[in-house]
Amino acid sequence: MNLIRLFAFALVALAACPVGAQDPGTLTPKPLPPLANPDDPQTPAKELFVRKTDAAPLSARSLGGYARGCVAGAVALPVDGEAWQVMRLSRNRNWGHPNLIAFLERLAKRVPQVNGWPGLLVGDIAQPRGGPMLTGHASHQIGLDADIWLTPMPDRRLSRAEREQMSATDMVRPDRLDIDPNVWTPQHTALIRAVSREPEVARIFVNAAIKKALCREAGGDRAWLTKVRPMFGHNYHFHIRLACPQADEACADQDPPPVGDGCGPELDQWFTEKMLRPKPGPPRPPMTMAQLPPECRKVLVAR
Ligand SMILES: [Zn+2]
Repeated sequence: MNLIRLFAFALVALAACPVGAQDPGTLTPKPLPPLANPDDPQTPAKELFVRKTDAAPLSARSLGGYARGCVAGAVALPVDGEAWQVMRLSRNRNWGHPNLIAFLERLAKRVPQVNGWPGLLVGDIAQPRGGPMLTGHASHQIGLDADIWLTPMPDRRLSRAEREQMSATDMVRPDRLDIDPNVWTPQHTALIRAVSREPEVARIFVNAAIKKALCREAGGDRAWLTKVRPMFGHNYHFHIRLACPQADEACADQDPPPVGDGCGPELDQWFTEKMLRPKPGPPRPPMTMAQLPPECRKVLVAR
């Protein structure tokens, strides 16, 4: 990606990510009022998908692209597992393609051996039928993206209130040029390396300062760094993106990441003034159903 394209992408990504993992939720979410004209073709798709509180009872499929699609037959990650706890339950974003949910359960159980943490704190996955969201992510639309906190799961079960209010830890220094050595640990590196080595994982997104630390700490075996891509935000959590399920023809994979460890000039671009303090671009009109794959209409109305 050249610098101009990267910068244009920066503006879009910034506009799309106003909400971070650290933003608190509420124990008493207000139900959304019904839409006056849900069938109006101008209705933003996010207003339709956010009102679906359960999965589409269809066979499991990821439809479209990570930032333009939906998911049929999603399942919810249980809010408590032997080695994970779901955060911000008020958002109802712990839904995903069954492949991703099974992957997260397997991963969480391995975490004690991987880095000694008791388990994972799981942030946003997707809405019950995927699709665009009212706040936060541009992606997370097809049930194959998950945010994992860079804070270890504590040794006890968190209360509902703690899951809404507890803050994740910012891993990056105030000047954004490197990690904060007071909070970044070898355990973080071990976890991200283990996830990146999983064959189903297509990409991992981390803050550029975190990528810089991983480049420094990787040592001789650098193949796993290829999938770890710098991204805005992602200083409180990292983002796991699985590849499309095999034989899921309606699911659009991304191009594979460029070859190499991504630690050279490509990473340096992220530390320019424009990239460190990008000015937000003009707001973009929200996506409508017409911009999503046609099957997403069936996913939206299935009952
Ligand atoms: Zn993310």
